Amino acid sequence: MADRESAEPATDEPTTMSNPEPTTTAETDSDESTGESAAAAAADRPAIAATDLSHAFGDVRVLDGVSLSVAPGEIVALVGPNGSGKSTLLRFLARVRAPDEGTVTIGASDGRARVGYLPQQPGFRAGFSATDTLEFYAQFVDDHVDVADVLERVGLADAADRRVDALSGGMTRLLGLGRALVGDPAVVVLDEPASGLDPGMVERLFDIVSDLADAGVAVVLSSHNLGPVERTADRVVVLDGGRFVADGDPRAVVESVGAADLQTAFGDLVATEEVTGR
Ligand code: ADP
Ligand code: MG
Repeated sequence: MADRESAEPATDEPTTMSNPEPTTTAETDSDESTGESAAAAAADRPAIAATDLSHAFGDVRVLDGVSLSVAPGEIVALVGPNGSGKSTLLRFLARVRAPDEGTVTIGASDGRARVGYLPQQPGFRAGFSATDTLEFYAQFVDDHVDVADVLERVGLADAADRRVDALSGGMTRLLGLGRALVGDPAVVVLDEPASGLDPGMVERLFDIVSDLADAGVAVVLSSHNLGPVERTADRVVVLDGGRFVADGDPRAVVESVGAADLQTAFGDLVATEEVTGR
């Protein structure tokens, strides 16, 4: 798994670089010029609309016609066993790659809003400090970026001058989160953002996610931290066997299998699918 991830450079590409239109946030946000009804329509529009996504690697079918719509300000948590296709789906949502079949639309109908993306294995250019790194990405967005503020938000203020190659795995992930937040994108896609973080930082990570959603950002994240997911997410989507085996608010998903909590429900949902499905 780790080998495959590291063998795939696309996972390390920052969205600001790989997005076809990296600097169009201002355009897609400017409802003033388009009148009130257009603004109202924009508010109704999903931040992410993914329809009928299917994908196979060789003869391994990873996604089998999944659709997902995420509203502005909504937190969707994607959970599923290792190898169930979470990272693949998140790459499609972040538009760092295209699925075999299906469409992904982000934001306005022109589909040009930016997405902040944290890959599962974020990578950075060795030798740069944390500050240098975010300043590098900041130059690709139109708005002024307060890099010190971004570092503060992700809990890396004390590591601002530290070289990225001297950061721990968890801190590297936090820097990747900071990179995803540069330019205040309306959509943020985070692949296992809490992985490798100590318990305090996990709580902080989910607090950051809540704050983003409160500010109207659409967040899709994958996580194995089902406690914080159950407390924080508006919606939990369980991916297994290439399909969503559950999709609803955490309480509904837990109750659908008569479980006590999401951890237990997860075991039931995924195990059931394994027995009856593949
Ligand atoms: P998850 O993130 O849920 O662990 P992934 O999306 O990383 O799952 O992987 C889903 C499946 O697709 C796995 O079987 C994995 O080995 C396979 N896979 C992912 N990326 C590639 C790739 N670039 N080439 C071949 N197989 C891949
Ligand atoms: Mg993954």
